[in-house]
This record gives sequence, C-alpha cells and structure tokens, in this order.
Amino acid sequence: MVELGLAHISTGDLLRGQVAARTPLGLEAKAVMEAGRLVSDEIVLGMLEQRVAQPDARKGFILDGYPRNVAQCVALEGVLERIGQPLDVAILLSVPEELLVARLAGRAEEEGRKDDNPETVRQRLHIYEQQTAPVAEHFRDIGALVEVDGVGPFDEVYARILGAIERVG
Ligand code: AMP
Repeated sequence: MVELGLAHISTGDLLRGQVAARTPLGLEAKAVMEAGRLVSDEIVLGMLEQRVAQPDARKGFILDGYPRNVAQCVALEGVLERIGQPLDVAILLSVPEELLVARLAGRAEEEGRKDDNPETVRQRLHIYEQQTAPVAEHFRDIGALVEVDGVGPFDEVYARILGAIERVG
C-alpha cells in the first residue's frame, strides 16, 4: 500500500526469494511449499522478524499471508509488542471457493507457480480451513477483524482494502 506509506510484507514472497536464491532455508522450504503445506513456524518467524526490522517497515506494514495458524498469531503478538507497533486491523478477504480455484488456475498459467496446480490448491484450502480460519475467529473475538468482499476487478477490491485500512488508521 504505497499510498499509505506501508511496507507490503508477504511471507510467501520472502520464501520464494529464498527458494530462488537457493539458500539452505529455501531448499528446506521448497518441497513443503510445492506440497501446499505450511513451512515451519520457526523459519517463517525468523524471516518475518528480520523483515519488520528494515527501515521501510518503520511507519507500519501490511502482512500478507501471515499469521496462518494460531501459534503464528501468538508469535506475531510478541513481535508487535517488542517493536512497539500495535495491530490496527486484520482483513479477511472473502472469496467463494470455486472462484479461488479458478483464480489460482489462472495464476498457475501466468506466473508458473507450481503450488497453484489443482491438487495443491485443494490441500492449501484444506489447511486454510483447519489452521488459518481459527486465526480469523481470534481476530473477530478481539474486535480487530474487518471482512472485505474479494469478488470483483482488482482495482475495486484494492480500493475496498484501502478503505478498510483508512477507516481504522
Ligand atoms: P502465499 O504466497 O502466501 O500463498 O504462500 C505460498 C506458500 O508459502 C504457502 O502455501 C506455504 O507453503 C508457504 N507460506 C507462506 N506464508 C506462510 C506462513 N505464514 N506460514 C507457513 N508457510 C507459509
């Protein structure tokens, strides 16, 4: 979100960077990612802590793809406390499952992501239900959750997310 001066931190992008650079961490994460499972909490947390310490994250950041389970949620609360940044809002992008599958199939063609094949997508959706949905419930319980309709053209969904952030910021 360049408009708001917030750094965009995607744990998936950080992991793909490690895979591309063939670092030991990347080599460890590659097979797990291609199988559509979650990389270990420890690895992801280490990467996240380094990333939020970068200068561009000082004014705030948007986490994309983190936290993905309850343990990561607890870890995040610890990180935010240590760096003195409050959690302003958690955005839940709602998209019906059949549309998600269609979008990821399109992305598999455009971006060549191996983890966007139908079998891996099913596995990732299963993990979402089992491990990530409870995180959304936690944010709902503490009153931090804002649900945004993720159906529609890119610019419209982007504008909705921007609006949700501006309302709390
Ligand atoms: P994404 O780009 O967010 O869809 O992430 C792609 C893949 O990277 C996921 O399917 C996981 O294998 C891994 N990954 C990304 N973020 C996390 C996370 N917070 N915890 C564990 N694994 C992650």
